[in-house]
Amino acid sequence: MNLPRASLAFLPTPIHRLDRVSEHLGHDVWIKRDDLTGLALGGNKTRKLEYLVGDALSSGATAIVTCGAIQSNFIRQLGAACARYGLRCAAAVMDLPYEDEVPTGQRLGASEGNPKLDALFGVDLRVGPDGPWEELYRQAEDLAQEMEALGEKTYRIPIGGSSPLGAFAFYEAAQELQRQAAPFDWIVTASSSGSTQTGLAYGFRESGTHVLGISSDPEPEIAHDFHRLGLELSALIGVPPLPLEQFDVDCGFVGPGYGLPSDEGNRAIRFLARLEGILLDPVYSGKAFAALLSLTRDGKIGGRILFWHTGGAPTLFAMPGTQPFWFEKEHRTSTVTYED
Ligand SMILES: *Cc1c(COP(=O)(O)O)cnc(C)c1O
Repeated sequence: MNLPRASLAFLPTPIHRLDRVSEHLGHDVWIKRDDLTGLALGGNKTRKLEYLVGDALSSGATAIVTCGAIQSNFIRQLGAACARYGLRCAAAVMDLPYEDEVPTGQRLGASEGNPKLDALFGVDLRVGPDGPWEELYRQAEDLAQEMEALGEKTYRIPIGGSSPLGAFAFYEAAQELQRQAAPFDWIVTASSSGSTQTGLAYGFRESGTHVLGISSDPEPEIAHDFHRLGLELSALIGVPPLPLEQFDVDCGFVGPGYGLPSDEGNRAIRFLARLEGILLDPVYSGKAFAALLSLTRDGKIGGRILFWHTGGAPTLFAMPGTQPFWFEKEHRTSTVTYED
């Protein structure tokens, strides 16, 4: 496939074994470091942006408009990519799309973490009130029309970069992994807008590797969205479509809701930090790693397991509370247990 491509990521990203986690779990656990894609603190979105920004540039765009939650890692990486190519970047955001009643003490900070970096890259962030995802998409379209009225040739990117091109980037990432390591029984990754899991599911079709997405959203219908995105990807790459059953999404680790830290996720963040010196995030990868730990313990997954790290650590700096959760007295010990 010869698609226009911007140069944004340092690929291949590293892969290595998690020796202490493997010893702890009694399984062979590896990690794919897409937290180290290299653009503006990294993350899975940089892979997608190589094709999305490549397409925008080849269409002659002068501005890019997208949308997301205020702590969007996608908008941060997009802002950096737009800076590199001299594109104007604007995004409609909400603190918490889709959640109605959340105690203020559980919310992530609205000015720390990612939005601080967005401002540094010059992203025009338009913060709207909390509401349903559909409202957020409508605000993004209004913003795109505003940019057009200003004379900008505006390229629209859906939330999280989950277009067929975004999924294609992860279809290729699957091949990257196959060149790096012997086959895995399981790949566990955080899932939200879906192009990461969809691309990987296509990439590992008929390979014996089971791709399991851990949802950050409490909506079981998202497997249908991934299936539909997969139909578009199959048309792009010219392979038969994967059936719905091939999109294995576990919604059991969301905790209190999208964009809200969970106790189990926070324990997993602390666990990996203290056992391996690796940072996860409270919205996506922490919950996904909590799932890996829990499902392995329950014997639901096993053998050779790969955790596909999707990044997100800047959100750690927006954690609620005056004291971060890892400073609690009982956790100051150097003895590492997940249950503590
Ligand atoms: C966006 C994101 C995900 C989810 O990836 P999708 O392709 O949107 O499903 C997971 N982890 C992190 C850190 C992210 O920023």
